[in-house]
Amino acid sequence: MIGAEAIQEATPFRSDQFSLEQKEYLRGFFSGIEARVRTPFAGEMADGRLTHDPSSGAANLAIDRGDETFFGTPVDELCREERWKHESNPLDVWDQLMRHAQENRLPDPEFTYRFKYFGLFHVAPAQDSFMLRMRVPGCILRSYQMRGLAEMAEDWGAGECHVTTRGNLQIRELEPKNIVNVLMKLDSLGMSSKGSGADNIRNITATPTTGLDPAELYDVAPLARALEHTIRNSRDMYGLPRKFNVAFDSGGAISVVSDTNDIGFIAVRVADGKDVPAGIYFRMLLCGITGHRQFASDTGLLVPPEQTIALAAAMIRVFNEHGDRTDRKKARLKYLVEAWGMEKFLAETEKKLAFPLLRVAAQECEPRAAVERHGHLGVHAQKQPGLHYIGVVTSVGRMSVDQMRSVASIADEFGSGELRLTVWQNLLVPNVPTEKVEAAKAAIVAAGLHWSASTLMGGVVACTGSKGCKFSSTDTKAHALALSKYLDERFKIDQPVNLHVTGCPNSCAQHYVGDIGLMGMKVGGEEGYQVFIGGGCDQDQALAREILPAVKFADLGPMMERLFLAYTERRRERESFLEFTRRHEASELKAFCETEAPPQ
Ligand code: SF4
Repeated sequence: MIGAEAIQEATPFRSDQFSLEQKEYLRGFFSGIEARVRTPFAGEMADGRLTHDPSSGAANLAIDRGDETFFGTPVDELCREERWKHESNPLDVWDQLMRHAQENRLPDPEFTYRFKYFGLFHVAPAQDSFMLRMRVPGCILRSYQMRGLAEMAEDWGAGECHVTTRGNLQIRELEPKNIVNVLMKLDSLGMSSKGSGADNIRNITATPTTGLDPAELYDVAPLARALEHTIRNSRDMYGLPRKFNVAFDSGGAISVVSDTNDIGFIAVRVADGKDVPAGIYFRMLLCGITGHRQFASDTGLLVPPEQTIALAAAMIRVFNEHGDRTDRKKARLKYLVEAWGMEKFLAETEKKLAFPLLRVAAQECEPRAAVERHGHLGVHAQKQPGLHYIGVVTSVGRMSVDQMRSVASIADEFGSGELRLTVWQNLLVPNVPTEKVEAAKAAIVAAGLHWSASTLMGGVVACTGSKGCKFSSTDTKAHALALSKYLDERFKIDQPVNLHVTGCPNSCAQHYVGDIGLMGMKVGGEEGYQVFIGGGCDQDQALAREILPAVKFADLGPMMERLFLAYTERRRERESFLEFTRRHEASELKAFCETEAPPQ
């Protein structure tokens, strides 16, 4: 026993026999003893030297960690990344960022992990440099921010940016010496990259047309922003067991594929005559993780808009406290909810809330409006009379610095200075008055972009691929463009077809939800793909089925051509490619791909 209580124990006198001054002296005396009996510090620094200085930020290796736990898990059972988190919070790494920048040094595996908390990804061996992933809450940014990012990409990066499948932006090829420069510049633009990588809550997505779409039920942009700021200002919402995705769907003509997120909110209407007052609420979906072949499913909860942020925050905390920290393959939210069951997860969430959860069956709500696939592209009237949004197609998310500056100028000159990004790696220029639409379209084309795309070219999504990701077996972006162009030159299809190309099973481009989903692999030493067909989200929700286990990319064009030929020749009236593929067995689709003359 050490400290104030010990005064009584360690002396033959009662503490009330001492004056205030004597008590202070004794307290100081015993705290000195306490300091001496603490385990001396012996930490190993990043370069391997040992230090006795606790302020070095290194972990104290001299401590017996035998019965220590981290979120209830014995320390010796933690996986590698969790041990790092336990040793010191990866957010406390600014001094190391500075040091790496000053020495123009690339990080070791531990700091590679820690720097991802700041959105900085050391992407070796694909590239010996960093990629910076921002946060664009609600997928909305301002023209001055796009211009500032263009400057950053030009001065320190690869001269281009990529729009990601979370409606976010990335800049590549940053040298270590510039990592602090880019973070400081980002801050000066009113942007952040904190938590965009590693085991954190990723960019909060929102329907790209929210606040503009005449058919929507609720403008979700303020909700996405509110959750973003709740996270940024709550240190305990970083360092989760694994990454975490949240999306807000405004319930209109355009979706945000919320069913692929850990938490998805979808605006719905409850009509008169139900057990709850009529109005707009949110359905809450949980545990979407399509890379693990699972869509988010309805929790049975109906959530008033004003409760969405508190509810999401409570669930994130439950996940943080109880998720698996021993096995990264089992650490996503899905596995906690599977282990506990939904009711226990909701009960634990409710303990953290000052309001009761509202359990209302989905059937009590009006069905969500039909989603218009590719409806975000081209020119569309907004709910605000006389204004339009223009959906702009990018080349699988790639924009040169010139194009970044051009879209910023287009937003300023023809719109309201606002830009929006989509989870299909495209962008929107909102608030364009009727009389400026034609000039804005011309300016978009002059920038080397386009406001319209064919049904085949408008839905092409590709992950980073081998040019910038060490996990990739293939050059996904180049292949996605080449294949869509190949098919587009041969077929004129009247309904949208989405092509999702991903370089590895991590499935950043969500190959399981594409009409055509490709997953990169090596085939006979060459770049090739496993081919999946018939996936979709929202009203078309289904996982794509594997039809070809391994095809060299060189053979893929002709094979897909045969499949499209079968579709165009055999389709029923107005039948979409998706509908066609879904009424055929995988073996029949495979036969279409492989047979010169498809069987009758
Ligand atoms: Fe890299 Fe795989 Fe993600 Fe593609 S899917 S970006 S290859 S981790």
